[in-house]
Amino acid sequence: MTHMHVAGSIHADASSAAPVWLEKPVDANVLVDGLWSGTAVRGQGGEMHVGGLPVSEIMAQAGSPVYAIDEIDFRGRALTWAQAFSGWKVYYAGKSFLSGTIARWVSEEGLNLDVCSLGELTVALRAGFDPARIGLHGNNKSEELLRLALSTGVGRIIIDSSDEITRLERIGAELGVRPPVLIRVTTGVEAHTHEYIATAHEDQKFGFSIAGGQALVALVRCQGSPHLDLVGLHSHIGSQIFDTNGFEVAARRTLRLMSQFKEATGVTLPELDLGGGFGIAYTIDDSPATPADLARGLSDIIEHECRAFGLDKPLLSLEPGRAISGPPGTALYTVGTIKDVELGGGQSRRYISVDGGMSDNIRPALYAAEYSAVVANRVTTAPPTLSRVVGLHCEGGDILVRDVFLPSDIAIGDVIAVPAAGAYSRSMASNYNHTPRPAVVGVRDGKVSVILRRETLDDLLALDAGLD
Ligand SMILES: *Cc1c(COP(=O)(O)O)cnc(C)c1O
Repeated sequence: MTHMHVAGSIHADASSAAPVWLEKPVDANVLVDGLWSGTAVRGQGGEMHVGGLPVSEIMAQAGSPVYAIDEIDFRGRALTWAQAFSGWKVYYAGKSFLSGTIARWVSEEGLNLDVCSLGELTVALRAGFDPARIGLHGNNKSEELLRLALSTGVGRIIIDSSDEITRLERIGAELGVRPPVLIRVTTGVEAHTHEYIATAHEDQKFGFSIAGGQALVALVRCQGSPHLDLVGLHSHIGSQIFDTNGFEVAARRTLRLMSQFKEATGVTLPELDLGGGFGIAYTIDDSPATPADLARGLSDIIEHECRAFGLDKPLLSLEPGRAISGPPGTALYTVGTIKDVELGGGQSRRYISVDGGMSDNIRPALYAAEYSAVVANRVTTAPPTLSRVVGLHCEGGDILVRDVFLPSDIAIGDVIAVPAAGAYSRSMASNYNHTPRPAVVGVRDGKVSVILRRETLDDLLALDAGLD
């Protein structure tokens, strides 16, 4: 979960070295239930295995740091969402992590795919993903992106602005196509982890405001357009959400809009998309609902609200990203330096520097996101010590795991494994400090397969016109 933002060493809180939610484990070697991908285990001798491979073997083949995606676990989660929400259309949110291989897994498990940029759409199309099963998002879709989407027959376009309506009408007319479109609305609900707020305040860049009336205007405009096939409404309320409270208000407000639209035009909109944002466990403090529980909760809410507004139940869709791609991913780093820093009052904090950092996982620096970690290459009876796993970058806020108890005998060369690292880490990676981005590999049945190869310095320097 995301706690109050306390990024950077300058804000280090010396009075309480460990946050209240973090219990000191009896045994820091344990792979805590619910945090790790399905095939992660301690093998004989204590080394962690994932996908049937010891971590040392994965790193021998793929280098360090590396992101290992547990294929069985990824596919299993995709299928679980599809089955829990049978009768719905489930779109995997590609922005959480997308590559040719991932697009194929998603397709093979029967899911649809959301993309939100020219790059993501190009990956999906080149991977052979059926365009009819692709949804396109974005608040500033370029001419080139819209042309590609319309000419390849992308299944739905989620419209985010009046300018986009104008642009789509023009391109649709020019290409002689009538794209299916949804209008993205802002419901005034903002959900974040365990809390959500529902207000009229909508000061953000996405969507058309329901409260302000722009959403109804956009719907009427699209309905009247000979170049657009208006199919419904879209709402996305946030991320890392653990229950259905926020969705209840969003569903009520979107369905009320559907009923107002019906009164105004006589037309019943056939589809409603409730977006993504379903939370996962990054630490022992997180307890996400199961897809089955969410499906039951959301279906009940929709039925109740439809009855209240006298609407037929629309075709429903949703867009989980993190919940599918996060847990199957394990980040593996190698320990380089270890430093104990005195905090005063007899307390100290151990800083463990690894060979990655904010360039491969910006979430702790960007959102104060919390993670967990273990020493993966061995087990030990050494007592747990409060530790902070940091990267190699020239930034005090370059933190990977803010607070974690790791064995006190941790040593240079040990392997640190971070669970739930499959979403929004490699996909948000940068080349800060001219750091090549790590490889992403699939692991399954004792075999490593490259999903994204490691970037080399030559890859990076090839862009530099001032170098030979
Ligand atoms: C980011 C996003 C998602 C996916 O969010 P997750 O937290 O990964 O489930 C889905 N839909 C839209 C419109 C998004 O912007």
